[in-house]
Amino acid sequence: MLSFDLVRNILELAPDAMVIIDGSGTVLFANRQVSALFGYEPVEIVGQPVEKLLPERLRDRHIGHRNQYARAVRVRPMGSGLDLLALRKDGSEFPVEISLSPVQRGDEPLTAAAIRDVSDRKRVEREMREARTAADRANLGKSRFLATASHDLRQPLQALALLNGTLRRYVEHPDGREALDLQEQAIATMSRLLNALLDVSKLESGAIRPDIADIPVSRLLDELRVEFAGLAASKGLQLLIEPTTARVRSDPALLAQALKNLVSNAIKYTATGSVTVHTGEQHGRVRLEVRDTGPGIPEDHLPFIFDEFYQVGVAANTQRDGYGLGLSIVQRVARLLDLRVAVQSQPGRGSAFSLEIPAAHPADAEEPATTQRPERAPRAGASHHLLLVEDDPGVRNATRMFLRGEAYRVTTAASSEEALARLEENPDIRLVISDYHLEDDRTGVDVIAAARARLGSDLRAILVTGDTSPAIAALQCDGHLQVTSKPIDPDQLLRLIQSLLAAT
Ligand code: ADP
Repeated sequence: MLSFDLVRNILELAPDAMVIIDGSGTVLFANRQVSALFGYEPVEIVGQPVEKLLPERLRDRHIGHRNQYARAVRVRPMGSGLDLLALRKDGSEFPVEISLSPVQRGDEPLTAAAIRDVSDRKRVEREMREARTAADRANLGKSRFLATASHDLRQPLQALALLNGTLRRYVEHPDGREALDLQEQAIATMSRLLNALLDVSKLESGAIRPDIADIPVSRLLDELRVEFAGLAASKGLQLLIEPTTARVRSDPALLAQALKNLVSNAIKYTATGSVTVHTGEQHGRVRLEVRDTGPGIPEDHLPFIFDEFYQVGVAANTQRDGYGLGLSIVQRVARLLDLRVAVQSQPGRGSAFSLEIPAAHPADAEEPATTQRPERAPRAGASHHLLLVEDDPGVRNATRMFLRGEAYRVTTAASSEEALARLEENPDIRLVISDYHLEDDRTGVDVIAAARARLGSDLRAILVTGDTSPAIAALQCDGHLQVTSKPIDPDQLLRLIQSLLAAT
């Protein structure tokens, strides 16, 4: 412990406001910084209880704390974890931080207190908190907007796709057919954007729960081959998918989506040469790498390419193929599945994007049965009777027109109740097509169950859903029930109907 006089002299030079008080809380000394901070002359404070420097409402409590401290003097910050307030001569209050240390005058134990005005720091902290809350709120609002917008846009888009399919039946004139082709392309483009937006918002909102399984990488690679061989060939690119026996432990659908985005980019941005998918295994992780011989990405852009809507070298407001969402989806999937994403790129030489995935344990390797995709059946006007349950009038009418154009007999219902009444009147209905979400919280699952209770358990059914919720994923598709997601394309709907009706 230092002597009182020495301490006094030092404190006069200290940059902080300092006071020394005795055991009864009387101020024995205040340096010049105290005057500057509180607006009192030292003589106005010296000899006064230190509580004079505190807002009145806090004084009693302070006296209690002070007495406690006097019993066990040691160096420490005061009121750690609390927000301390001080009072200026002019009555204004300000936040402070105070540290205490014991000082000795003869036998008398005294306390030195350093007082620091932390208004600025508190203000910055508050501003940061407010900015963060605002950003969180904006982000949440954005996700909700994306989810709602993309979900609600699905209905009219579905109707458009079906109407396009219907018109194809009736339009013969070459100019009309060409307009329909262009319309179909526009619908497909819109549908892709919508799916991407919906993916982003679902991944962001946490609505997607990964469904982890052991999967052979070869299965993912087969999917890539089916989806991209044609596209690569049409650009004159070599698509080299190297075979592998590696197995990973991950969510097959989400992982496939991330991989497809990488391969799709590689093909999109590469003008000549090749796109290679290479698989390696190391330290319990499988590394899937998509390499291309494309233009590469300048180093200063690399940190941003995973951001939403970021595109290299595209000015805002201009449009080009893609929306700058592909990689942000990869990034979100990676976060969800605990994958490591890396990118290496050399401008002019090409890029390599890689995903590192936990490897499957060799012991639980078992190949799940793959479902056979029905071959596209020829269009046949079968006069089977179908029941269509859909609460959106636009989609209902478009689907009805489309199916009638294909020579099906179609009865429609807008609700589950109406569906049951129609089933009652039409015992010859062979197949029910139902939307999943119906009014009054009823679902297509309820409708199908009720319909089967009436017309027999082998009644064919198609459940159409805009949802990928686990409840639906868990639905068992028996030979007589198929689940498909919106927007369904007309040909796919026909194939489903034909295969269900053909099944025994
Ligand atoms: P986009 O829809 O524009 O492809 P992405 O999020 O998938 O959006 O990619 C962001 C940007 O990163 C792209 O606009 C492109 O400039 C760049 N990029 C992504 N993959 C490649 C690649 N394989 N080769 C060159 N550039 C790429």
